[in-house]
Amino acid sequence: MKEVIIIGSGVAGLASSVRMAVRGYKVTVFEANSYAGGKLTEIMVGPYRFDAGPSLYTMPQYQEELFELAGKRYQDYAPYVRLDPITHYFFTDGTFLVAPADKAAFAKAVEETLGVRSGQIAQHLDKSQKIYELTANIFLNQSLHKFQHYKPWDLLKAGANLGTLDLFRSMHDANEQQLKEKRAVQLFDRFATYNGSNPYEAPATLNIIPHLEHNIGAFFPLKGMHAISQSMYKLAKELGVEFRFNEKVEEILLEGKKAVGVRTAQGSYRSDIVISNMDIVPTYRKLLPKVSAPEKTLQQPRSSSALIFYWGIKKSFPKLHIHNIFFSKDYKKEFSLLFDKKTLPEDMTVYVHISSKLLKEDAPEGCENWFVMVNAPNNQGQNWDELIPLARKNILRKLESMLGESIEPFIEAEDLLEPRSIESRTGSYLGALYGSSSNNKFAAFLRHANFSSKVSGLYFLGGSVHPGGGIPLCMLSAKIVDDLIPRS
Ligand code: FAD
Repeated sequence: MKEVIIIGSGVAGLASSVRMAVRGYKVTVFEANSYAGGKLTEIMVGPYRFDAGPSLYTMPQYQEELFELAGKRYQDYAPYVRLDPITHYFFTDGTFLVAPADKAAFAKAVEETLGVRSGQIAQHLDKSQKIYELTANIFLNQSLHKFQHYKPWDLLKAGANLGTLDLFRSMHDANEQQLKEKRAVQLFDRFATYNGSNPYEAPATLNIIPHLEHNIGAFFPLKGMHAISQSMYKLAKELGVEFRFNEKVEEILLEGKKAVGVRTAQGSYRSDIVISNMDIVPTYRKLLPKVSAPEKTLQQPRSSSALIFYWGIKKSFPKLHIHNIFFSKDYKKEFSLLFDKKTLPEDMTVYVHISSKLLKEDAPEGCENWFVMVNAPNNQGQNWDELIPLARKNILRKLESMLGESIEPFIEAEDLLEPRSIESRTGSYLGALYGSSSNNKFAAFLRHANFSSKVSGLYFLGGSVHPGGGIPLCMLSAKIVDDLIPRS
């Protein structure tokens, strides 16, 4: 029986462990932490449960597909529902917009609230879908780095529609030209943050993202986001995958130019194939000291990080929903401070996620579990101990003023995740949430491939390599690696 070692049990590592077990490999997953899931985990703060990392769930079909491969039904492991409405938006001028799931209803709500014709919104979402259809097979569903994988028809279609791909202007410029209305532009610019990018720099091709949320849908697992990773972990164990927790890999073992296993503090382990779900930068710097690193790739700017306050609140706020956005007044300034000055703005866009709106058991009766997140620059050694308390004060002031209610006296439980702890808990280089940023039109090509061109039998997956960060793309990276490993 052939053996494979997977380093890390993030979403991509778990998906890969299932795929390789289904193929008949003996699979061992080494995980530095005591639990599976990486960033997709949960924490308890007093009586409050929080999903610690991701909160927005799109493209569950990739989990469906994974479970089907193993002859199981995903809904039996992690039932989920489509959210409707998706988001409550609060603007600084007092405008309040509820974004329904249905595309036509969303367009109508934007027309009624922001005064942009619904036809324009529908057109914008149609274009988003078109970009997705033109790019998915080239940029997402396969390795970008194996020319033989390209289908001539996909290339021809994309080539003939270069204008639609909108590579040569920023997301913001495209949104402004199409929508004109400042608040509507801000709403669509926000989608750049779904992969940690800056809408004023990221190519308008990233306007693909609203398609995922507004055409396909936003979903939520009925046992919390954590159920996504835990269901894959359960399935992997049922398929015989061995998990070695609290066992950090220190080196990938090579014989000549072939990966032959890993070394940990407990010993050396041999395998036919090694798959790393660890961030690509430390994979080279720490685990492959004798392999020359692809410096240009590793030095690509990283995506943003985040500051998350987990607040157990002894009160309920009927105006809030499961996803809530409180926009800043000056979006351009906010992103310039985050990406150019690498600091936290005073007026930040604040995202409040409250899973207890749907999952009552996540908070005591009459209370709510607030996951309060702001974008933050990745970790460049800023004085976080000074920045974080100041940000907390600014966030509270903003929320209290925009909601017209006091909040601080009702916080009875609290925890924090910030760029330094994101890095130390999951090995994410600089605490970036999504690997390298997508702030230039070549970013997709500059992400590391899903295989090593120097070491045979060595593959890479997860948010720091092709096709990028976020749960759906991590799932795709596992699928691409599956396709790359020869079937003998
Ligand atoms: P990771 O989750 O990065 O896990 C890597 C694993 O490898 C870790 O468990 C780590 O301990 C282990 N590891 C590292 N080094 C070693 C070693 N040497 N030996 C053994 N094990 C090792 N995505 C969305 O789709 N929607 C969202 O709403 C969303 N919001 C987010 C909010 C936050 C606060 C964060 C942090 C992320 C968010 N993301 C979101 C991004 C998403 O969480 C990630 O893209 C995805 O979970 C990354 O998965 P991964 O497979 O790359 O592995």
